[in-house]
Amino acid sequence: LIDIDALRKSYGTNEVLKGIDLHIEKGEVIALIGKSGSGKSTLLRCINGLETINEGAISVAGEQLLQDDLHLRALRQKVGMIFQQFNLFPHKTAGENVMLAQQVVKKRSRSEAEAMARRMLERVGLGAKFDAYPDQLSGGQQQRVAIARALAMEPMALLCDEVTSALDPELVAEVLQVVRDLAAEGMTLVMVTHEMAFARDVCSRLVFMHEGRIHEIGAPEEVFANPKTPELRSFIGMH
Ligand code: ATP
Ligand code: MG
Repeated sequence: LIDIDALRKSYGTNEVLKGIDLHIEKGEVIALIGKSGSGKSTLLRCINGLETINEGAISVAGEQLLQDDLHLRALRQKVGMIFQQFNLFPHKTAGENVMLAQQVVKKRSRSEAEAMARRMLERVGLGAKFDAYPDQLSGGQQQRVAIARALAMEPMALLCDEVTSALDPELVAEVLQVVRDLAAEGMTLVMVTHEMAFARDVCSRLVFMHEGRIHEIGAPEEVFANPKTPELRSFIGMH
């Protein structure tokens, strides 16, 4: 579904991704792990067209990512992204937050967008919170609204960048449960996470990034049980 070939990305003279090859099948759940600065977020941002790439190619559903506005807009509809910060509009209700991009980007009517928003809020366990404002919701609930907002765009894949890192510890589980449900329903997921137990349970493949390269990759139980490099051994030791 997502094909990344020889991807290189620099910021100025700082080469952050140094040749990434990764082929992600439909329904796969990939965990990206690695030290701070290893390029995990940059890789997700490249897949979603939020960054221009210097070399290599990315394609989604067989269509190559080209760096022009029209293609990027189409791509962002195919691939949803969820961030550490939920970025909800504070003066809009949960329901309105989930409706907005549907109306603006997908040109859905108000009633279509509302029906979809109600379904997606239901799906993340927030059916009763349609009219709540973000400041009336916990961090975990706000993040679930952000997930509902992404799902309402009917993406082919979802990219998650440390979606639980901004949450109080007691709120992490409810968000991970939503992600776990999505994985079980067959959603293609690429997630940057520090939740190693979750990565081990839920992911089909684990990708360990180190200094802009894929340093190790494989089934999580295999990679955790048999780290082949000192860098991964030390990383696992720290977590
Ligand atoms: P973390 O675990 O801290 O989130 P990460 O693996 O996600 O780290 P990236 O955010 O991808 O790392 O950053 C990789 C490198 O790229 C870092 O050296 C960072 O300073 C640099 N970088 C990231 N974004 C930019 C930017 N917009 N401009 C310049 N340099 C950047
Ligand atoms: Mg990051």
